[in-house]
Amino acid sequence: MDPAGQLCYTDAYLRSVEARVIAVDDGGDAPIVVLDRTVFYPGGGGQPSDRGTILRSADGRSWTIRAAKKSGGDIVHELEPGDGGRPEVGDVVSADLDWARRLTLMRTHTALHALCGVVWRDYGALVTGGNMEPGAGRMDFEFERMSGDLVAEIEAAVNAELRATHDVRVNVLPREEAFAIPDLIRTKVNLLPEGIEQIRTIEIVGLDLQADGGTHVANTREVGGIHVTGYESKGRINKRIRIELVDA
Ligand SMILES: [Zn+2]
Repeated sequence: MDPAGQLCYTDAYLRSVEARVIAVDDGGDAPIVVLDRTVFYPGGGGQPSDRGTILRSADGRSWTIRAAKKSGGDIVHELEPGDGGRPEVGDVVSADLDWARRLTLMRTHTALHALCGVVWRDYGALVTGGNMEPGAGRMDFEFERMSGDLVAEIEAAVNAELRATHDVRVNVLPREEAFAIPDLIRTKVNLLPEGIEQIRTIEIVGLDLQADGGTHVANTREVGGIHVTGYESKGRINKRIRIELVDA
């Protein structure tokens, strides 16, 4: 698969694409289908992979895609076992996302970046990890003095930033250029493997800039709002904040 065929990285709003099957494999417990291009996100950076369907143009037969993943340089699709049969090499298909789920993940992911941006800007706390499911997520910070009062402040500040209609931009930079951006160091861009020449960044203009491989909405207004549903100590310094989306 040509890297240019990995469309999720350049157009997060593309929910369907016509493609050709270039490989089919028995996989482990599920058949694996490789297409010459795809809209599916393979998972990573705390964002789960997409789900959806592959529909064969010739006869309208369709298969459920339960997950996508990176394999070698490709994004590959895992068929739901038991759907019966499988597409064949050369078939022309439509690869279609479960768009409601993907869009919710995009909103959730952008909300988490807004949270990171606020916590860094207002408290200087570094992110150490994060994870999400559609509509809810968590982030871990090196944030010794976190408290319930601060959590309420953080929630209000994040919601103010989401309402401020910041554009969200994707950039791909040469490695050296990315390393020269002070903000990126806090998200541990220096941990990226040696071989990576291009660094993809997600910028919430005016708020947050991170090295990131995920899919995001184009403007913070699309996120809606967030509610902080909890926070926990994961040690003296490490604290976890949980959020969920609310429709603002
Ligand atoms: Zn991210």
